[in-house]
Amino acid sequence: MTIDGWADDGQEKLSMATVFVAGAGGLGSPVLLYLAAAGVGNIVVCDMDVVDISNLNRQILHGDSRLHIDKAVSAKITLHYINPEIQVKIIQEEITRNNVHQLTAEAKIIVDCLDNFAARYLLMEEAIRRDIPLVHGSVWGMEGRVSLFHVPETPCLKCVFPAAPPKEQFPIVGATVGVIGSLQALEVIKFLTQTGDLMKNTLLVWDGSNNSFNKFKIYARKDCPICGYLHKK
Ligand SMILES: [Zn+2]
Repeated sequence: MTIDGWADDGQEKLSMATVFVAGAGGLGSPVLLYLAAAGVGNIVVCDMDVVDISNLNRQILHGDSRLHIDKAVSAKITLHYINPEIQVKIIQEEITRNNVHQLTAEAKIIVDCLDNFAARYLLMEEAIRRDIPLVHGSVWGMEGRVSLFHVPETPCLKCVFPAAPPKEQFPIVGATVGVIGSLQALEVIKFLTQTGDLMKNTLLVWDGSNNSFNKFKIYARKDCPICGYLHKK
């Protein structure tokens, strides 16, 4: 409450808000933990996987005693351990064109903690339809990227990543998703409390191997199949 710019009603804004978090894995873990600890009142967790032993180096919502349990269920247990006052709704469905509108109902902001681009693009399109922001995060090894997309003020995810990278297994050092997920959580908290400057029109790239943070200006593409029509004016 004493944060500069937070104002008297900042905490109230957090407790009234609904945030949709897609993915309760590596990025979703720090995002969800910090949103719950901050007192975000309504959190929707969407994940259909179960906890596997190979997840545990980075997915700190879950632990050894949760092996083979649904991640969404495990996430809810952990979030209520952190903050029993908040509402946690779990969704264990694949995000599709048919259900994305219904799944994200009431969300004030969407957090992309996924590992597949097909669902990411669907969430981006839905965020545009609802005129709400999407906070993107992604990692590879010791490198990660973050941006906040709120079209038409900014480009969209597809302007910046026009094609889904090939599906592959890739290495992740657990602390990397901690850094990137924490930055995503902070963007959500800033947006909900209207504090600070959001990461709009900027792609932040963090390289943990040499501790560099670089910010790149990003631009909307008029030929973008998702948002181009909004940028033609
Ligand atoms: Zn676009």
